[in-house]
Amino acid sequence: MNQQQIIQSIIIAGGGTAGWMAAAKLSQHFKNMAIKIVVIESSEIGTVGVGEATIPTLRRFYQSLGMTDIEVIRKTSATIKLGIEFKDWYQPDSSFIHPFGLFGHDANGIRFHHYWMKLREAGDPSALEEYSLAIAMARANKFSLPQENPASPLAIFDWALHFDASLFGKLMRDYALENGVSHVDAKINAVNVNSDNGFVHSLTLDDGRELSADLFIDCTGFRGLLISDALKTGYVNWSQWLLCDRAIAVQSMLVGDAQARTISKAHIAGWQWKIPLQHRQGNGHVYSSNFISDEYAEQILLQHIDGEVLHSPRQFRFIPGRRAQAWNKNCIALGLAAGFLEPLESTSIALIETGIEKICGSFAKPFYNQEKIDYFNQVTATEWERIRDFIIAHYKLNQRDDSEFWRYCRGMSIPDSLQQKISAYHERGDLLHYPWEIFHPDSWLAIYSGFNNYPKQYNKNVDRINSHYLQESLTAMRQSIAETVANFPTHKEFIVQNRAQHSVFE
Ligand SMILES: Cc1cc2nc3c(=O)[nH]c(=O)nc-3n(C[C@H](O)[C@H](O)[C@H](O)COP(=O)(O)OP(=O)(O)OC[C@H]3O[C@@H](n4cnc5c(N)ncnc54)[C@H](O)[C@@H]3O)c2cc1C
Repeated sequence: MNQQQIIQSIIIAGGGTAGWMAAAKLSQHFKNMAIKIVVIESSEIGTVGVGEATIPTLRRFYQSLGMTDIEVIRKTSATIKLGIEFKDWYQPDSSFIHPFGLFGHDANGIRFHHYWMKLREAGDPSALEEYSLAIAMARANKFSLPQENPASPLAIFDWALHFDASLFGKLMRDYALENGVSHVDAKINAVNVNSDNGFVHSLTLDDGRELSADLFIDCTGFRGLLISDALKTGYVNWSQWLLCDRAIAVQSMLVGDAQARTISKAHIAGWQWKIPLQHRQGNGHVYSSNFISDEYAEQILLQHIDGEVLHSPRQFRFIPGRRAQAWNKNCIALGLAAGFLEPLESTSIALIETGIEKICGSFAKPFYNQEKIDYFNQVTATEWERIRDFIIAHYKLNQRDDSEFWRYCRGMSIPDSLQQKISAYHERGDLLHYPWEIFHPDSWLAIYSGFNNYPKQYNKNVDRINSHYLQESLTAMRQSIAETVANFPTHKEFIVQNRAQHSVFE
């Protein structure tokens, strides 16, 4: 397909988080191009109803629509997320936090962890996490908005939200509808493909209507009604590295103060999330069906929930991986239709954002050609692979010896791209950052050190600095962080000031 394809109309099939986020952003992007956008969703089928932990990129997304943090916190019953606490991942009874922030203060072009390692080798007992403001806040359950122009890198951190996915979907829908998007509530019964060129021509609805468009965005969830069922686009399966293939989710009453961090607790063949909102807590157990039964997985989940359970647990089955081509012919897959990586680092919604960003980038003008499709697919594949590697690292680096699952993960072979990263860190303490990678070097450092994984030796240029001076500098950094956090309000105080109407916070 070398000729330009002009678009005048877009159908977004599916009205979950992916569909309405796409509708909101595309209605803004195409505002002056007279492009008609229709969302078709089926209230009978509903949405997946999970997906409540985010990363900071989500804030940039809604801010680009003109929404403020406080508005979104109020409207989605959100709490603050400063990072993820990984309990029992390294070994039973261990805990580390992956923060949205930096560790220490780099100097002379050398990363901070080399300085810290030198002191550690000299017998200094301070932990790397003591040099992270975001971790100190998370452990103390405190929160204050970051300074706009911090004088020191020690004050730099970012933050995200835990939110009610259905309320966030509604926020996106309201924005899209106000911006001229049309909405059809009906079931898509058939996807009609043009026999000449294999393009999607139209969708037949259960009320008998047939709707056509120039471009289709498939947001129909795991099934991928257009991209998979109709266009038969292949799937790249990563289950040789990501063993978890099922999840059970349930909501419960919130007990105690909501933590400003997601909790991820490792279990015998997977892990459990705890995501606090203002009015309830989300819980789920992600596990490998090759190692434990569904019944046992549910039992483990229910045994580890603090508050009263609010409904029967729901089960999800998935194949870890991505669609071989996220954009095929005149159809682009977003959200679960584009693939699925377990929610360990809350990356699915972030991948929806990057997908939407790339659609906008592809349509500076309302036409496309094969070159744009190929570029879109190449970048998408890379973004997914980077996140895949980050998630695999959490399993590969474990030192648990209490179950076959964890022993298998530790011994498994890993993708070359990940092996190179781990080796560069191990040999020289280098934190490689590849193009199209969402997670920054300090995120990798958090994971490596959380699993007690350190380079063979620190960068010897560090020896140019006087040891006494180094010791004093690091002590000053720790003190500065501790004093800053002592003066911050609690997470609860921050939320009470900005709470939703139906919040149980008071
Ligand atoms: C267990 C689990 C936990 C997760 N946790 C997180 C997390 O913490 N953070 C995160 O970022 N992501 C998480 N995710 C992913 C996140 O839930 C999804 O990325 C997000 O909800 C987007 O889903 P979606 O819109 O693609 O699909 P869905 O929510 O499934 O929406 C599909 C839409 O398509 C419509 N539809 C389907 N078939 C038809 C049809 N025939 N006719 C008409 N309409 C149709 C449905 O009605 C619905 O509107 C999690 C996912 C799972 C499974």
